[in-house]
Amino acid sequence: MLRLQAEYLALRTRHPFIIARGGQSDYRTVWIRLTDADGNEGWGEAAPNRYYGETAETVMETLQVYAQHLPADPFDLEETDRRLETALHGNPSARAALSAAMHDLAGKRLGVPVYQMWGLDPARAPMSTFTIGIDTPERIRMKLHEAAEYPILKIKLGSDRDLEILRTIRDVTDRELRVDANAGWTVKHTLRMLPILEEFGVTVLEQPLVPSDLEGFGIIRRAATIPLIADESCKTVSDIPGLVGQVDGINIKLAKCGSLREAIRMIATARAHHMMVMVGCMIESSLAITAAAHVTPLVDIVDLDGAALLAEDPFVGATIAGGQLRLPTGPGLGVTSR
Ligand code: MG
Repeated sequence: MLRLQAEYLALRTRHPFIIARGGQSDYRTVWIRLTDADGNEGWGEAAPNRYYGETAETVMETLQVYAQHLPADPFDLEETDRRLETALHGNPSARAALSAAMHDLAGKRLGVPVYQMWGLDPARAPMSTFTIGIDTPERIRMKLHEAAEYPILKIKLGSDRDLEILRTIRDVTDRELRVDANAGWTVKHTLRMLPILEEFGVTVLEQPLVPSDLEGFGIIRRAATIPLIADESCKTVSDIPGLVGQVDGINIKLAKCGSLREAIRMIATARAHHMMVMVGCMIESSLAITAAAHVTPLVDIVDLDGAALLAEDPFVGATIAGGQLRLPTGPGLGVTSR
């Protein structure tokens, strides 16, 4: 059986990261290492989110259960996904970390990057957005200055400062803007906001409504001229059928869906319904970011700035300098310790 080790990582964002339901500067993730009989190591990172029922502590507890169900062979990827989910439901970020570590180990054993194992061209990875959290006008101006290298910005809205934030940003820059309201708006309010978003040149609207209001999403979609993306409403592949016709696309995150293979299943399912596909992240280090980055040659929109928002990053992997997502070329995930 593969041997599992796990330790907490303390991460701190450069600025407090605030979205519609609150925020903070200090985050804890879990770094996991799987070791095979020959001493080869595969790495993964769990970025738990309370909103989806996980904390760093629940990840640690869950890993003790999952450790009993790990295979001896890191290539036993599909069956391990199924076995872990059966052993203990939920806990998606813990399972995603194990999935990343197994893919890392499998790639290292073959001596090829994970994207190559999957037959993907890393040059097809789209540009990544850089996120500006909810803040005062002064601090937003400072953040825009710091984010000068990023050509596409994702703006967090969903508070009573929405108009002030849009005005502050447009006064400073004409860069492409995408908006994420993190379930902070009602249908009525979103309908009022649509012409305003249009006026400010916003190109994408992510999750304006609470996750369960799929009918509301349909109303917004029919009124909107820009693509509507479901994030909090779309955790795993089984959420996609209910979203068909109600939204234009889905936002996949490993910490919601539970594995790299589930991410690929979601992409295939969304494509079958002619939906757009986005890949996003939590506040997490370059280790978790890089695991998600390996699927990006298959998607349309990338928002993998979780590590770029950190004051210090314990790992070196995929980067989004200048907004261009670049995948590392080393075997497995291609991540090294800083
Ligand atoms: Mg979102």
